[in-house]
Amino acid sequence: MSVPTHQVVIIGSGPAGLTAAIYAARADLEPLVIEGEPSSTSDQPGGQLMLTTDVENFPGFPEGVTGPQLMADMRAQAVRFGAEVISQKVSRVDLSSRPFKLWIGDPDSATPTHLAETLIVSTGAQSVMLGLEAEQRLIGHGLSTCATCDGFFFRDQEIAVVGGGDSALEEASFLTKFASRVTIIHRRDELRASKIMQQRAFDNPKVEFAWNTVVDDILGDATVTGLRLRDSVTDELRDLQVSGVFVAIGHKPNSGLFAGQLDMDDNGYLVTGPDRSTTNIEGVFACGDVQDHRYRQAITAAASGCMAAIDAERWLESRH
Ligand code: NAP
Repeated sequence: MSVPTHQVVIIGSGPAGLTAAIYAARADLEPLVIEGEPSSTSDQPGGQLMLTTDVENFPGFPEGVTGPQLMADMRAQAVRFGAEVISQKVSRVDLSSRPFKLWIGDPDSATPTHLAETLIVSTGAQSVMLGLEAEQRLIGHGLSTCATCDGFFFRDQEIAVVGGGDSALEEASFLTKFASRVTIIHRRDELRASKIMQQRAFDNPKVEFAWNTVVDDILGDATVTGLRLRDSVTDELRDLQVSGVFVAIGHKPNSGLFAGQLDMDDNGYLVTGPDRSTTNIEGVFACGDVQDHRYRQAITAAASGCMAAIDAERWLESRH
């Protein structure tokens, strides 16, 4: 059986991948989108927006839109212009020669499943979670991993932030614009964050610290009502009443598939640019959170997906 060759293959179906698909489809490039397959709540087609409820900061939706609805609409828009979307997962890529080889299913098979003239990588990133069962139930219902996205919903409420790095302190400071009190829960008695961020948090009257404290459980059935905290020195348990909790213990880009082939920084983010979506391999472009540790917004991911499609189109044009 012959292996199909595509002008553009897009791996990943968050805002970056689907925006790239819309642009590539409208440029008559008939992109194939390999959107992933549902395997767990933190890893599914549509990306991180599938874990959010209301999105109020994506332009064009004055009344807001739910994350899953926004992703369903982006997908439908890509399909309308001719993108082919398959609910499968890439198990291996070989970028050593063009066309690039992609495998779905058995990565050891001698024959690849698809060939690609250009590849757009939009595999996204995941927030590192605490690993509690309650996280699956309450994500998007008082539990969040993005203060910029969800802080607004916690006006005059008491909330908590978990973590002791720059992200946690930055999120906590931002959240004090809305919340009446923000408790930073850190597992040690010393922060990892930079000194300047520490000082800013110490100086903020709305910020409190729970030192040497780990989250044993997140309380609430339909929405967060509190946290069960454990003192890591004495093992003592106590409950903290909060209506929101932000987990800020790090992010992990989904870049493992490209290890040894695409250049990455020390934290595994793909290296692109400067000022464009190009990678170290000609014909391979990257967009969205897999290459962005700074902004991590749906709108910035979508914009970089547009860039990647235009870069791919121009690259194909320059070769033919
Ligand atoms: P990070 O620096 O790795 O910090 C993660 C924090 O979460 C640490 O305090 C760690 O505790 C804690 N943690 C990890 N796993 C945990 C668990 N299972 N339970 C409880 N706590 C846990 O990650 P980050 O804050 O996301 O920052 C990532 C990078 O981006 C850093 O280089 C940071 O400087 C940078 N950044 C910079 C800015 C800025 O400059 N404005 C803003 C955000 C991020 P321990 O300390 O005990 O390990």
